[in-house]
Amino acid sequence: MAKDLKVDRKSLPISLQNVYKAYGSVRALDNISLDIEAGEFVTLLGPSGSGKTTLLMTIAGFVRPDTASIRFGDEEMILTPPHKRGLGMVFQNYALFPLMSCAENIAYPLKVRGVPASQRKVRVAEVLELVQLSGYEDRRIHQLSGGQCQRIALARAIVFEPRIILMDEPLSALDKNLREHMQIEIKRLHKKLDATIVYVTHDQREALTMSDRIAVMNNGRLVQTDTPEDLYRRPRSLFVADFIGESVAIPVEKVGNTLMLKGKPLKTAIDKLNGAGPYHLIIRPELLEIVSQKINGDLNDLTGDVIETIYQGDSVIILVDFGDNQQIIVRVPTSRAGKLAMPEVGMKISLGLHPDDTIVVEEDAL
Ligand code: ADP
Ligand code: MG
Repeated sequence: MAKDLKVDRKSLPISLQNVYKAYGSVRALDNISLDIEAGEFVTLLGPSGSGKTTLLMTIAGFVRPDTASIRFGDEEMILTPPHKRGLGMVFQNYALFPLMSCAENIAYPLKVRGVPASQRKVRVAEVLELVQLSGYEDRRIHQLSGGQCQRIALARAIVFEPRIILMDEPLSALDKNLREHMQIEIKRLHKKLDATIVYVTHDQREALTMSDRIAVMNNGRLVQTDTPEDLYRRPRSLFVADFIGESVAIPVEKVGNTLMLKGKPLKTAIDKLNGAGPYHLIIRPELLEIVSQKINGDLNDLTGDVIETIYQGDSVIILVDFGDNQQIIVRVPTSRAGKLAMPEVGMKISLGLHPDDTIVVEEDAL
């Protein structure tokens, strides 16, 4: 018999349509529409105050939007209270019960669902293994490190096999090394779970590392939703280009159908620009080539004067004065920097940018 994946599948798609939420004159959510596939890992990314938590809490049912449709699968959820939405949730402050053991904390969602004690015990052991804390049943919360607390919070969120898991900046209280380790762990865990995850962070690197797709928010709006690679390689606005990854923006002028960079036509693979402008060339520091001879005709010439070189361990960055008060940053991996003759301050440096690596965005409307 042919297996119908749709029937077998537990994770649910989420469909948000025209979500608005105002607090007085603040438009916390300004017409958000987003479709998330079953089993997808989608991150809401944006600066502080952009509306990420409000959107997540709207999905959870703790915030009532002014108007919207929110569907899990085929079911409209807008009138369903939070505890009936069947969601697993993880927050920045773990919200664990401090006086209970790890096992009691994790088993709590099973208890409220009436799962018998014997089954609870088996299930708790299973999820403790998943979060790599086997044998921690009897530990008290105050005996745990921050990273361990966060794993217990994760275990509690997944123990009842929710079809949707929401996480709001779950790693932001952890130090950098542990945070990066947990990013990989959560990503790995997601592969083992049959669940749709909506994850919130203001950390663009974290979003790039973890997500299938990233929804970038600014001022209560969704400004671009794409895979990490597409967001990085093809930002559609100055805001996204600036927010995701390292970049420098240099104004380019549109003359007829040609973009001009400092009076010379920009060689670019981009064929159409229909907006009103003004336009900016976005330069990713790792895409510039340091050319030892004169720039050949295939590359864009971004030659300038070296202002400073800075050693950063895995790479070296070179700050270059491109004239007109514009600075360009070049990043060279240390492994390659050794083989190049590192330029000295004040020297001319010939920088080439391949047409395929050009990114041009229109300045964002205010
Ligand atoms: P983020 O999670 O991206 O930092 P929030 O969703 O918390 O942003 O907030 C979005 C905007 O809505 C902010 O301007 C914030 O001040 C406002 N806001 C959020 N919650 C409330 C509330 N309960 N009352 C009034 N304003 C709120
Ligand atoms: Mg928030």
